[in-house]
Amino acid sequence: MRNGEVSFWWQRHGIPARRPSLPGGTEADVCIVGAGFTGLWTAYYLKRADPALRVVVLEASFAGFGASGRNGGWVTAALPGSRARYARGPRGRDGVRDLERHLRDTVDEVARVCAAEGIDAHLVKGGELSVATSAPQDARLRQRLEQEREWGDDALVVRYLDGRDLDGRVRVQGAVGALYSPHCARVQPADLVAGLAGVVAGAGVHLYEATPVTSISPGLARTPAGDVRAPYVLRCTEGFTADIPGQHRTLLPMNSAMIVTGPLGDEAWQSIGWDGCETLGDEAHAYIYAQRTADGRIALGGRGIPYRFGSGIDHDGAIATTTIAQLGRILRRMFPAAASAGLEHAWCGVLGVPRDWCASVTLDTATGLGWAGGYTGHGVAASNLAGRTLADLVRGEQSPLVTLPWVDHRWPRWEPEPARWAGVHGLYTLYRAADRLEGTGRSARTSVLARAGDLISGIPH
Ligand SMILES: Cc1cc2nc3c(=O)[nH]c(=O)nc-3n(C[C@H](O)[C@H](O)[C@H](O)COP(=O)(O)OP(=O)(O)OC[C@H]3O[C@@H](n4cnc5c(N)ncnc54)[C@H](O)[C@@H]3O)c2cc1C
Repeated sequence: MRNGEVSFWWQRHGIPARRPSLPGGTEADVCIVGAGFTGLWTAYYLKRADPALRVVVLEASFAGFGASGRNGGWVTAALPGSRARYARGPRGRDGVRDLERHLRDTVDEVARVCAAEGIDAHLVKGGELSVATSAPQDARLRQRLEQEREWGDDALVVRYLDGRDLDGRVRVQGAVGALYSPHCARVQPADLVAGLAGVVAGAGVHLYEATPVTSISPGLARTPAGDVRAPYVLRCTEGFTADIPGQHRTLLPMNSAMIVTGPLGDEAWQSIGWDGCETLGDEAHAYIYAQRTADGRIALGGRGIPYRFGSGIDHDGAIATTTIAQLGRILRRMFPAAASAGLEHAWCGVLGVPRDWCASVTLDTATGLGWAGGYTGHGVAASNLAGRTLADLVRGEQSPLVTLPWVDHRWPRWEPEPARWAGVHGLYTLYRAADRLEGTGRSARTSVLARAGDLISGIPH
């Protein structure tokens, strides 16, 4: 059983040889800090729009080292944030509906680029299932469906499946119902980010690896190897942002942990089904997310230890054995037929959470500083839309993207320690207590516990 080593996805793909680091001080039109999906998609669309632009990407480790090469592989159209909060912006509900439409189109845009650029990321657009495994979870699903309808989403966007309909797709032990949305694809994330990095480098973007940026200021990104001077400097470091001087309380590095089984035999797949490769999550407060991988395994993730004191970050994705055991129990409970396949690899990563849990894509034209992130765990598709938007903002394009409600969205800073640590751990203690009560059928107080958690954290509804 391997633990860490960045991620199963990267071990499967093969950890790439490092590209050269920055050879010394240089100048560019646009300097991008961080080579995850956000930085790479921004570089991709900038270069496509204007091949003459000098674009430099500076990456502390290697392209895809962060969440982009470790995630659950859901290319989901889920909104990274709260409709109600985005609707407080100048475009109100219409703006939110617009952002949601663009996110749905983005799932197809990622697939289109993969096809056009020859990136084989095992992408299958099978949709997304949110499965209820208890009556309270089912009640939450139905309530969510009502909210979707109130916002104008019809059955083409999301619909309810009863236990029998769900069984026709995938058999999850104890499932009573599910919501299904077709707007999600499954990918092997390391294949996607590695492919994208290759395309971007091939298009003439200067992608320097093993080049940590030590400070960012208008017109300047500092590294130990020299300075990069550029009128636009874009921070695309999501969960790692706290380490950049001046940004310690901008985004909270939330941890997410994953396990993957060995390949399942034919008999196990016959009993589980899952031929459509839908992404699959549950409706617990401390929820899990899963996919059927291209090589016939189940990869399943959940929160694990949610947050490290002082906005700490894992070492190459290694996770606690208690988290492996916890996720393993959930996996065997939902998919008993997978038990014999055993677990082969466990890892974790950090995603960026803003204080109001709503993402932002911003370019300050006065300073030339920009950033995108805070996708709260829904960043695989959203980072593509964010990258296209940042590219338009830099080029001064008055496209429909630059008026979406997450553009120029600002949030308050996180509290200093130890309040930050206590708040996140308090939230998950309450969530897990609520889930345990629901599991025993004593669910009367769960909504109170979960609501208390939401109040502490500021999670919107
Ligand atoms: C375990 C896990 C599961 C997830 N599952 C999903 C999912 O299924 N679907 C979904 O939509 N989202 C998911 N997410 C979230 C999603 O992966 C992220 O939101 C997204 O990948 C963020 O991309 P990014 O480019 O902004 O950040 P990252 O991919 O984290 O990239 C940031 C990069 O910046 C580099 N960097 C950091 N500091 C510096 C510096 N000072 N100088 C230079 N470079 C620096 C890092 O090395 C890193 O490569 C998951 C996240 C995790 C951790």
